[in-house]
Amino acid sequence: MKTPSPFECSMCYLKNATDLIGIDEDIYNILCHPKRIIEVNFPVQMDNGRIRLFKGFRVQHNDSRGPTKGGIRFFPKVDLDEVKALASWMTWKCTVVGIPYGGAKGGVVVNTKNLSEEELERISRAYIRSIRHYIGPHRDIPAPDMYTNSKIMGWMMDEYSALKGEYTPGVITGKPIEIGGSKGRSYATAMGGFIILEKAVKKMGLKPKKTCVAVQGFGNVGFNMARILHEHGYKVVAVSDSKGGIFSKQGLVPAKVFEYKKKTGSVIGFKGTKSVTNKELLALDVDILVPAAMENQILAENAGKIKAKLVVELANGPTTPKASAALFKKKVFVVPDILANAGGVTVSYFEWVQNHSNFYWSEKEVNEKLKQKMEAAFDEVYSIMKAYKSDMRTAAYILAVKRVSEAIQSRSEY
Ligand code: GLU
Repeated sequence: MKTPSPFECSMCYLKNATDLIGIDEDIYNILCHPKRIIEVNFPVQMDNGRIRLFKGFRVQHNDSRGPTKGGIRFFPKVDLDEVKALASWMTWKCTVVGIPYGGAKGGVVVNTKNLSEEELERISRAYIRSIRHYIGPHRDIPAPDMYTNSKIMGWMMDEYSALKGEYTPGVITGKPIEIGGSKGRSYATAMGGFIILEKAVKKMGLKPKKTCVAVQGFGNVGFNMARILHEHGYKVVAVSDSKGGIFSKQGLVPAKVFEYKKKTGSVIGFKGTKSVTNKELLALDVDILVPAAMENQILAENAGKIKAKLVVELANGPTTPKASAALFKKKVFVVPDILANAGGVTVSYFEWVQNHSNFYWSEKEVNEKLKQKMEAAFDEVYSIMKAYKSDMRTAAYILAVKRVSEAIQSRSEY
C-alpha cells in the first residue's frame, strides 16, 4: 500500500471536515491551494572554497486572517510537497488557537550534521537574502522548526535587519532572549502539548502517577515533553531519536538521557535500557503515545498495533488519514497536531506582540497566557467533536475551516 504524501494527507483531512460541514465549493478550492510558492537556489561558499548551490522553499498557504507564520526546517529530505503540507497545517493551527496569522513554512535541503558553524551561518543568511522580499513583520514571519534553532533565528533576524537598514525583531520569532526572544519560547511546543495532554488525561479519567508514556523523537520538542512529563510524575518509559529508541520499564530520567545523547550522539545504549526501533516504540504497551518526530509515522499498516489509549501529536502530520480512521475505530483518543503542537506558534505570537510593544513579559506571564489559549482551544475542539460525533482531528479542522472561510468572505478576497 502506497503511503500518501504529507500534502495528500493534509488535503484528505481538509476534505473530511468540509464534507461534514458542507462549505462553498469556491472557498474550498481556495483552501486547497497555497497562495504563493517560492523556490530559490542560492549559492554559498563552503569552508573548502567551493561554491555550493542550495535549494530552499517558502510556501505561504493562506493569509486571510493575518500575516503568514511558520517555521523553517533544514533537512536533507525537504521537498515542495512537504513544505506545502506544513504551510497548510500552520494555517489551521494558528486558527484553532485563535491567533491572528495565516500559515506558511520554509525549508532548505541540507544536512546540518555535515556543516561547520560558519557554513551554517552563511546558509542561514543566504536563505533569508533570497526570500527577503516575501517576508516581513506584517507579511510573513518565520520561526524555528526541525534542525533550526534560536541561534539561527538570531542570524536571520540580523541579516533581514541589515538589508532593511533598521532593527526588525518582529520579522522572525524563536530568537535568543537578548535580541527580542520571548521567555518560555524554547520549550513552548512541549509545554503547550503538555497542557493539552493534561486536559485529555482528565477527560479520560487517567491518573498521572500511574500513567506510562512513550515519546518518539528527542529533539527540542520530544526532549522537553519527556522532561516536563517526568517533572509532573508521569512515567516516561521510552524515548527515541532518528537512530532508534530505548525502553525502561522502571522509567527514564529525561535530563540524564539528554546528557548521554549529547556525549554519544544518540539515546541508544543508555544504561539499564533495552533498545527498540522507532516502529517498535509506537507499538509499546503504554497509556500515552507522543509522536514528536516527523510526518508519516503512524500508518495504515501499524495503526492496528498501537496500544496507547491516548495519542498526543507533537510532530506535524505524524498520522496518515487511514491510520487516523483506524485509531478512531479502536477508540484511541487522538489529539491532532494542529491543536496539540500549537503551543510553539502561540508563544511565537507572544514574542511578536512583545517585539511590537517593546515591553517584555515574565516567564510566568507567558506560561499563564499559553495555558489560557491552549485550554480554550481544547474545549472548543472538544465540544465540536461531541456535536459532530467526530474525532478530535475532524473537529479541529471544522473549527479552522469555518474561521478561515469567514475571513476570506469578510475580506471579499475575490
Ligand atoms: N515550527 C513550529 C510549528 O511547526 C513553530 C512555528 C512558529 O512558531 O511560527 O508549529
